[in-house]
Amino acid sequence: MKYAAPRGTKDILPDEAPLWQAIERACRETFGLFNYREIRTPVFESTEVFSRSIGDSTDIVSKEMYTFADRKGRSLTLRPEATASVVRAALENNLLSTDNLLKVYYLGPMFRYERPQAGRQRQFHQAGVEAFGSADPSLDAETVQLSVKLFENLGLKELAVDLNSVGCPECQPVFREALKKYFAAHLAELCDDCRQRFAANPLRLLDCKEARCQKYIEQAPAMIDHLDPECQAHFAKVRGWLDGLKVKYRVNDRLVRGLDYYTRTVFEVVSKQLGAQNAVCGGGRYDNLVKQFGGKSVPAIGFAVGLERLAEIMGKSKVKSQKSKVDLFIAVLGEQAKKVAFDLMSQARDLGLSADTDFLGRSLSAQLKAADRLGAGYVYIIGDDELAKRSAALKNMKTAEQKEVPFAELFTQFAGECGKGCSCEE
Ligand SMILES: [Zn+2]
Ligand SMILES: [Zn+2]
Repeated sequence: MKYAAPRGTKDILPDEAPLWQAIERACRETFGLFNYREIRTPVFESTEVFSRSIGDSTDIVSKEMYTFADRKGRSLTLRPEATASVVRAALENNLLSTDNLLKVYYLGPMFRYERPQAGRQRQFHQAGVEAFGSADPSLDAETVQLSVKLFENLGLKELAVDLNSVGCPECQPVFREALKKYFAAHLAELCDDCRQRFAANPLRLLDCKEARCQKYIEQAPAMIDHLDPECQAHFAKVRGWLDGLKVKYRVNDRLVRGLDYYTRTVFEVVSKQLGAQNAVCGGGRYDNLVKQFGGKSVPAIGFAVGLERLAEIMGKSKVKSQKSKVDLFIAVLGEQAKKVAFDLMSQARDLGLSADTDFLGRSLSAQLKAADRLGAGYVYIIGDDELAKRSAALKNMKTAEQKEVPFAELFTQFAGECGKGCSCEE
């Protein structure tokens, strides 16, 4: 019998892992610079956590959730995104108030039952931030700035920010009506999905990717022309703060984002390295979500970054991730030599040096080749003669220099190389 990874999932293999680690490290460091702290929530939740918040009419909830009944018949869903989970956790643990700002970030796998295609998987990874407790436009601007800073820190270029406002529950219904009126005249020309969206939530029509719908979407009314005075003022202030922070952006009045809970500011970061269609990051304000969950009215804003996409761009843009390597490889001939090697490896690891030896009974030349493949900094070669004199040859694999070093002095030699007790190249 042959097994394969489930459709839409992918193994991240040891050669790829350093790139992922570098991305995750950059996320943690950059979020930390803006005073975000990590939160870890379960990968599954009660189904209502997602269906109520993301919106029943969205593609995510209507078609893409991994929903199952557990052994007691409770409906659970693998998280398709993390914001709803974070809101649930923050409420449950009393982390939210209006006189305190809560800044949290998350990192981990998400699950959506989508047709697998390039850059789209059923298990994928996201990192993101959520800030709760302030409706101030300066926080919107800082959040956008953080997303740009993250990509800069990752070495990505040709970034563009798309910005829009989707209004609030006061002004959105007016816009909805305007959209309904407009699309009603074109229903026959739209795709099947759009005809359904028309009935459920006309805002969703603006998300359609079908070619036949594009020309109608382009000419549809714009939310920013229907904002009430408060939302208008908020949007103007966000733009003012962004200008002050020298964050470049363009207003894209077609941008609505695929989730129901957004209010006012929404944004995406696009990298031209991927082509104009592809956002690397998306987010926005969700001032009513906490209340919808049964909490107080606590305004919030956040964004999420797709890590598969980042890994793809970074692979393309030759952002090099350092290959992991072993500091010391001990080549051994015979069982007795291996015992000495194990003792030396223990000492090496106590000093923080990575060490390995041969477990396959290979010839010396095969062991040296293996050490080379591993990128070993040094090779120490122990055979019968070496056992007798309790001393062996230490080879610097970079310079090919070789010198005789007694077993007992092996690690003072290492300390001598860089003064730090290791074989690093600093
Ligand atoms: Zn409004
Ligand atoms: Zn459509």
